[in-house]
Amino acid sequence: LKRAKRTDRIEIYEPEAAILSDNRFGLETELRSAIEEDRLHLEFQPLIELATGTVAGFEALARWNTSDGLSIPPTEFIPIAEDSGLIVPLGQWAIGKAAATLADWDRANGGVPVDCYISVNVSAIQLVRDDVAAVVRDALAANAIGGERLMIELTESAIIGDPDLALSVLNELKALEARVAMDDFGTGYSNLAYLQRLPLDVLKIDRSFVDHMVEDRDKAAIVRTIQSLAEVLGMRTTAEGVETADQARLLSALGCDFGQGFLFARPLDTKAALAYWRQSLDRPII
Ligand code: C2E
Ligand code: MG
Ligand code: MG
Ligand code: MG
Repeated sequence: LKRAKRTDRIEIYEPEAAILSDNRFGLETELRSAIEEDRLHLEFQPLIELATGTVAGFEALARWNTSDGLSIPPTEFIPIAEDSGLIVPLGQWAIGKAAATLADWDRANGGVPVDCYISVNVSAIQLVRDDVAAVVRDALAANAIGGERLMIELTESAIIGDPDLALSVLNELKALEARVAMDDFGTGYSNLAYLQRLPLDVLKIDRSFVDHMVEDRDKAAIVRTIQSLAEVLGMRTTAEGVETADQARLLSALGCDFGQGFLFARPLDTKAALAYWRQSLDRPII
């Protein structure tokens, strides 16, 4: 419905944008220049420690508003970036921007490091084609921030795609003291023997299990199982897509460490994210 409305408007006022939105190649060309000209931006969604209600970190989520005033969601432009190879510069930009944001926050905090990390998504394609650890190392050095301030999220499918490569990159990231998480856990088919070898800090429990976990005993049982697995492996868990207080309570009761979702906050711009962190010091989120 939203799309149709936008298309209507575009057809009347913006013939060029209509071509753009109907044409993947047009979008790819636009995306290429948006990356080159630094016209993407990041939003930051808080990751809340459920036991204390404090902000442990933020997930950085890429946003793209085109010159035509359209906002293209990452579910649309990330696949285009992956197919075209643009995901490599996009991913480098995201890591650099996250590190620069932390340095900005520290400056705004009177030079005292803000006690939280930023978690950045890295695509399977970037993992294979780029030297992700080198990108992280450079971003840390350029902004003079500690490795523990950055977390890299790799999806379960990215890790399964090339487990040996994933293992060596994760080890390099850990050598930089960066944190690493497996994103969307439970949606792929992890080989448990590999999982045990991976130096992961966090398993992010996919939103599909958190959805309806209060009403659906099977979903709650899956969350409980992932939680036990994480505990055995010495990893922590973050539940994605926490939308209700009942879900947060149940997750907490199951021992889940962190929650992320609209219940706490939508993705925020950089200023609002810093303000959210600061406010959480005086008043715990839950
Ligand atoms: P993800 O990494 O699993 O990110 C979480 C997504 O869930 C985000 O969608 C976030 O806005 C959404 N979300 C958070 N809380 C809730 C909630 O309570 N309910 C619901 N319904 N959704 C919630 P977003 O920002 O649209 O991003 C979608 C996906 O695009 C991300 O999924 C990630 O796979 C990809 N993505 C976004 N930014 C980047 C990036 O910089 N690099 C790469 N490689 N991928 C990115
Ligand atoms: Mg993610
Ligand atoms: Mg996720
Ligand atoms: Mg997800």
